[in-house]
Amino acid sequence: MSKKWVYLFDEVAQAEAYAGDWEGVRTLLGGKGSGLADMTRAGVPVPPGFTITTEACNEYRKSGNFPAGMWDQALAALAVTEQKTGKKFGSPANPLLVSCRSGAKFSMPGMMNTILNIGMNDTVVEGMINLTGNPRFVWDSYRRLVEMFGTTVFDLEDEIFEHPMAAYKAQKGYKVDTQMTAEDWQALVAEFKSLFKKHVGEDFPQDVYKQLELSTKAVFNSWMADKAVTYRKKEKISEDLGTAVNIVTMVFGNMGNDSATGVAFTRDPSTGDRKMMGEYLINAQGEDVVAGIRNTDPVEKMGETMPEVYKQFMEISGRLEKHYRDVQDVEFTVERGKLWMLQTRNAKRTGAAAVKIAVDMANDGLISREEAILRVSADQVDFLLHPQFDPNAKRDAAKSGKLFGKGVNASPGAAVGQIYFDANTAERMAKEQKQNVIMVRPFTKPDDVHGMIASQGVLTSEGGASSHAAVVARQFGIPCVVGASAIKINLENRTMQSAGVVAHEGDWISVDGATGEVFLGRIPTQQPNLEEQKDLLTLLTWADEVCARPEIRVLPTGEKSRGLQVWANADYPKDARRARSYGAVGIGLCRTEHMFFEPERLPTVQKMILAETSEERTAALDILLPSQRSDFDGLFDAMNGHPVIIRLIDPPLHEFMPDEEKLLEEVITMKVKGETEGLAAKEKLLSAIKGMHESNPMMGLRGVRLSIAMPEIVEMQVRAIFEAAADCTLRGVVVHPEVMIPLTGTVNELKWIQPRLERIASAVMGEKKVNFSYKFGTMIEIPRAAVTAAEIATLAEFFSFGTNDLTQMTFGYSRDDAERNFLVIYVEQKILPVNPFQTLDREGVGKLMSMAVNDGRKTRPNLEVGICGEHGGDPSSIEFCHMIGNNYVSCSPFRVPIARLAAAHAALKHAGTSVAEDK
Ligand code: ADP
Ligand code: MG
Ligand code: MG
Repeated sequence: MSKKWVYLFDEVAQAEAYAGDWEGVRTLLGGKGSGLADMTRAGVPVPPGFTITTEACNEYRKSGNFPAGMWDQALAALAVTEQKTGKKFGSPANPLLVSCRSGAKFSMPGMMNTILNIGMNDTVVEGMINLTGNPRFVWDSYRRLVEMFGTTVFDLEDEIFEHPMAAYKAQKGYKVDTQMTAEDWQALVAEFKSLFKKHVGEDFPQDVYKQLELSTKAVFNSWMADKAVTYRKKEKISEDLGTAVNIVTMVFGNMGNDSATGVAFTRDPSTGDRKMMGEYLINAQGEDVVAGIRNTDPVEKMGETMPEVYKQFMEISGRLEKHYRDVQDVEFTVERGKLWMLQTRNAKRTGAAAVKIAVDMANDGLISREEAILRVSADQVDFLLHPQFDPNAKRDAAKSGKLFGKGVNASPGAAVGQIYFDANTAERMAKEQKQNVIMVRPFTKPDDVHGMIASQGVLTSEGGASSHAAVVARQFGIPCVVGASAIKINLENRTMQSAGVVAHEGDWISVDGATGEVFLGRIPTQQPNLEEQKDLLTLLTWADEVCARPEIRVLPTGEKSRGLQVWANADYPKDARRARSYGAVGIGLCRTEHMFFEPERLPTVQKMILAETSEERTAALDILLPSQRSDFDGLFDAMNGHPVIIRLIDPPLHEFMPDEEKLLEEVITMKVKGETEGLAAKEKLLSAIKGMHESNPMMGLRGVRLSIAMPEIVEMQVRAIFEAAADCTLRGVVVHPEVMIPLTGTVNELKWIQPRLERIASAVMGEKKVNFSYKFGTMIEIPRAAVTAAEIATLAEFFSFGTNDLTQMTFGYSRDDAERNFLVIYVEQKILPVNPFQTLDREGVGKLMSMAVNDGRKTRPNLEVGICGEHGGDPSSIEFCHMIGNNYVSCSPFRVPIARLAAAHAALKHAGTSVAEDK
């Protein structure tokens, strides 16, 4: 027997037997197909039908033909469906109509094709009219088929049908589709068929089997449509999965006022509130709701209009939520008072909703805390921490008449940008002109997604909370307001207008996706307050608890340990306080040079650099010492009880000096003008700067090399660190200072400098008569240091991977040049999978790191290891740090919550709890 390519909805057991598990069934039948089969099994009313597998799609894509046996199996399944419904495909006596629906493993809303009402032709139409006595409905259904067939199977532009229809309505003076009569639809069918013939070159096929075959192929082909490919790239969905095709008996929501169609979420996908949220339309077919072209009613209203159906619907959707243990996004149709479920899937949601839903479901015992953690992605937390509008500034804007319109708050967040009225221009302005863009459209379609992704925000004047614009924006975390109906958009003039005020293309607006407000002009934004986000705090506490489990992680040595801690990079006490409030339990990098750049300190720093004798230098440093001490004091204070790693001076000294060219210009100008006062000093400074010139400063006199050439600076810094630590201790603050020596390449550098510094440390503790624990350690940012980690660890008590420099030096790229000149090409050409400055290169840089950890711990088993490069805030890099046995990752304070979640994800994933792929 040939392979099984087709599964009836009630053959889910066979699919499971073949695919192994439910995950396999989802791969085989796609999300929609497996959902329909699963609902059928659960006794939910689903119209009979069958699924052609993704495997068939992949075969078809390879050869351009259906695999052997597939079509026969489809026809056999169609015959079973005829039996079940008592109807017959293509028969005017009692016709079966079907839809042909795409359905990939991970839902890609609106990205691929669906064709409804297949099985109609000129004779079936007559039969259906006799049967239903409802010619209006029949002609409406037929015109939809001709239109959908033309646009999806033959790629005709929507406008080819939309314009004549709009013209027809205008000529009749109709405002809405429901005003169209049977005769009107019949006239339109004739027009649509002749348009079809004109543009396709042949008649609309009257052979219903031909209709089904071409539709199936069109759905398969839609997997490779540009918009689908773009979407998968963005969502990191594999190209190889393919789509299934679902052939479903048509049920009709457009059979009169006892019929309806709708979509609903079992909880609010924007806020996560436990409240069914949906819309429906009486006397309409499915895509009318999603397209946002008619004004819908909230689903609660069904409680009044169809109370029995509503009760059943609420019961079924509640059951589906429990069954899938997640919020469901369902589609339904009511045909003459009977409810049919057409789809269920895990709902897409905003970051805020994801967090609230996960925490609520865990608190209700529907899912575990681990699952709750895994349900929320790091990107979603990232989005929650994005800026929001300053409420005062918003109030002022409203007072001064800048409120331009209000619509549905479809996807939260504050967006400020310049308006553009089509996706291509929006994308171009964003990419080429680097503008902040807000895309404005009456409504969006799948072809607009590239423009939406490139935009800061999206505004539409039509559609509701489940319109295309709303769904896509939520998915990508783009702030979005839809259905702002007071705003009239004029696509030809490229303007929009509200209450007599006109905004032109390129004008700035501010869109508040959380409230639905749209303002003219730019409203300032501010950082959200984490303390107010109670559910997120709860989730992050659970994440910390996972990481703190003493045996959650198996180290490369086979030993067990806790998971990662999250520390932060902070240079100033205010950053340290923010880091603490975001949950950081240490400072992994305090860069001291920032302190030298303070305007009132810089002259002293320059004097110190230009000093000709050690005494002169020490004198200047003595002036700097108290201010350094107070910097560190504030830091220790903020981090009371937690470790603070302070890095000794790192950049080349010329960075602290005036710009050479500018100085030269000044000297020349003075000479030309004959000014003499101060000229000699300037000339001396100029020659000193010239003397400091290096051809490759990044690899020149800096880091530990500078400390060896000029030890007075770091001696002062170490004194300041330990004096501050001692003072804090005396005040009752618990300190754990860790002194970090940058840019070590050989252990001999440490042998030269570290004992000198350690002597100062113990001297200060002696002078102040206090004792506290401290460490000396080094950054690992030069490949040689990683390779010789065993020796380096004889002195270094901790390692901190400076992965920015380590990446530069391992690849031999200078980051700025690489990012400007060739990294984009490298990533496009797949020479590199991703930008290694954003996501750690595990095979190269990562290999050096894991080697360094292992070798270092051979010398010093309790060696503390962390990372302080930007990778410390990147989820994939955090996972890698977990794998190689880092103790902590250190990142920007703003990324600490993201890192806490990512650390827990890594711990759970490697402990065998699978990370849910609820795409
Ligand atoms: P998408 O994946 O883009 O949501 P669907 O395959 O779900 O596409 O179909 C598009 C619309 O058509 C939906 O509103 C759906 O409910 C409706 N629909 C699909 N099949 C049928 C059917 N057999 N009977 C009635 N409506 C249908
Ligand atoms: Mg659907
Ligand atoms: Mg460095």
